[in-house]
Amino acid sequence: MSKTIQIHDKYFELFISEEKIKTRVQALGAEIAQQYADKNPLFVGILNGAFLFTADLVRACPIKSEVTFLKVQSYEGLKSTGTVTTLLDFQQDIKDRHLILVEDIIDTGTTFFHLLPTIQAKHPASIAIASLLRKPTAIKHPITVDFVGFDIPNKFVIGYGLDYNEQARNLPAIYKLIDG
Ligand code: 5GP
Ligand code: MG
Repeated sequence: MSKTIQIHDKYFELFISEEKIKTRVQALGAEIAQQYADKNPLFVGILNGAFLFTADLVRACPIKSEVTFLKVQSYEGLKSTGTVTTLLDFQQDIKDRHLILVEDIIDTGTTFFHLLPTIQAKHPASIAIASLLRKPTAIKHPITVDFVGFDIPNKFVIGYGLDYNEQARNLPAIYKLIDG
């Protein structure tokens, strides 16, 4: 596969290979398996971006567990004051459950800053966050991420679930925007 690709009007270059993602996800799955062996955790994938990471992470974690999804939309800046709208909510009772929220990327932290209190209000036994990517320099709201795949620079990335105007989610590797 070509290492430079075009999506809509922009060019992207290979950043994290499929092989590196696979190795890291396996390690995260093993780590979670150790910590949650007797807890029957509920993995909560955050749609749309985390659909591939969630699918791979649960398969890398060979313990008794359940999987569900939330769909949220975050608005920031000019369009709103930074709120999160829930488009698809929990279908089950999460009281006393051990939750592992699975996210594609933590950028400013705004999504979780607004989402976490609404989840905490439902009294789960615990909440952990697993994020494939994190941009430490972009963080505005401090969020504790329990399981991080890769810390990356503050660059726009696509692939492996992450989109650019809805395109490129199906790329098996992660690509970053070529500036300028
Ligand atoms: P936050 O609320 O932490 O600022 O950002 C959360 C959401 O912004 C992510 O779940 C993702 O949907 C989107 N996002 C942030 N950075 C990137 C990026 O580099 N690429 C893509 N495709 N989406 C991003
Ligand atoms: Mg997301």
